Amino acid sequence: MSEAALELAILPGDGIGMEITKPCVELVQMALQKAGEPKAVENWLEAGAGAYTKLGNALPAETIAGCRQADAVLLAAMGDPDVRYPDGTEIIPQVDLRFELDLYAGVRPVRSVPGIKGPLADPRGDKLDFVLIRESTEGLFASVGKGTRDEEQATDTQVITRKGTARVCEFAFKLAQQRKAHGHAGEVTSVDKANVFQSMAFWRDVFDDVATGYEDITKRYGYVDAVALEMVRRPWIYDVMVTENMYGDILSDLAAGLIGGLGMAPSADIGDEHAVFQPCHGSAPDIAGSGKANPTAMFLSGAMMLEWLALDKENANYHRAAVFLRSAVDDAFSDGTLVSTERGGDAGVAEITKAVGSALSALSNNDPRLA
Ligand code: ATP
Repeated sequence: MSEAALELAILPGDGIGMEITKPCVELVQMALQKAGEPKAVENWLEAGAGAYTKLGNALPAETIAGCRQADAVLLAAMGDPDVRYPDGTEIIPQVDLRFELDLYAGVRPVRSVPGIKGPLADPRGDKLDFVLIRESTEGLFASVGKGTRDEEQATDTQVITRKGTARVCEFAFKLAQQRKAHGHAGEVTSVDKANVFQSMAFWRDVFDDVATGYEDITKRYGYVDAVALEMVRRPWIYDVMVTENMYGDILSDLAAGLIGGLGMAPSADIGDEHAVFQPCHGSAPDIAGSGKANPTAMFLSGAMMLEWLALDKENANYHRAAVFLRSAVDDAFSDGTLVSTERGGDAGVAEITKAVGSALSALSNNDPRLA
């Protein structure tokens, strides 16, 4: 057991954010206690379209400071199509936070939860386990707030730097090494469009440079359009993929579709100093307040946070807490009777939280998944 309790910055944000954050934090606390750790200190902070309406600032300085100070940040979802900046663009402080905290590696695990059938007829599509790494600080998103527009023309510029590309590729190769130690293929695929754009040819050159430092890992290439096809045709061929910001944004939604929808897809945005964990989905304003949201992606993001803390703090109990929470999700869905509303069932926040909570309570300290 560690001396000091963890300090978590918690940003529930907008729409379904608050509905899925409260149960997630409760489950994270339960998992920590089950692993023999004290409860984390919770620092709930404001950000999002609601904060913009109330305070005139979507990402207040106090919130940024709270995130910097915390051991990890748990963020739900932000944005509301009805609340926009004067230039008409949507409020996306979750993207601003990636720049503020220099969170360059967007980690999107694509892991099938047992009991959740994917959309592919081939049974291998129900047992996916690969990771998409999305560069998160540059690419086309470097142009956010900086594009140009007149009556005849609009431009947004893609920016690819050596430093930005090298560090995210390093992250991908290191992750492939860690996964290889657990039986995965030990491959990294660069997803780019090096045959068309200068920026992408440059990206691939930097990818190649980084690859020379990882002789134990196989490097592969895929053009983004061909990869989109393969992710539908035979996604099980992938181990770790690394790509620029915009391609990663699009492919991570496609990947979410392969494992049961946005409500099942967790994510992390990781830098050298800080890390933010949030589900892949947005604030889902169309179902906010109805109780219909699937909170599973949020729970799995909480488990990713605990896993990252285990490495960052070198504390095996946080790893145990992560395994408890992830296994509780697996057990809750495994017999196929718990079906979320997004998949045509009738389980929403309350039902799924209850099922995962019961599964978590039932887990034994001798569970083989803890090994
Ligand atoms: P963003 O651009 O912020 O990622 P978005 O506009 O792509 O957001 P989402 O808010 O993710 O959109 O919602 C897309 C669709 O998926 C909506 O119909 C929404 O209701 C549904 N959806 C998103 N998250 C969930 C969830 N956790 N449970 C159920 N349905 C969800």
